[in-house]
Amino acid sequence: MLSIIYNRKKCIGCSNCVLVNPLYFIMSKLDGKSILLNSINKNGIYTLKLINNINYKYIIKSVKVCPVKIIKIIKY
Ligand code: SF4
Repeated sequence: MLSIIYNRKKCIGCSNCVLVNPLYFIMSKLDGKSILLNSINKNGIYTLKLINNINYKYIIKSVKVCPVKIIKIIKY
């Protein structure tokens, strides 16, 4: 199991995460920041829990390409 943690308040809208992980991220046309799909918002920190680690190598790409380092992955 793993969680993607995304601090959306600090997003600068570069869209790198969307380019490498379009299954999980899209760009908002409202504010130009990315959206972590199906996540739960708690005070601007968005969390998406995944029941297995199958996509870990895919998801970790978004962590690496984010220039402001606001995407984290926690493995259980
Ligand atoms: S890579 Fe980081 S800064 Fe760029 S859009 Fe995604 S979350 Fe925002």
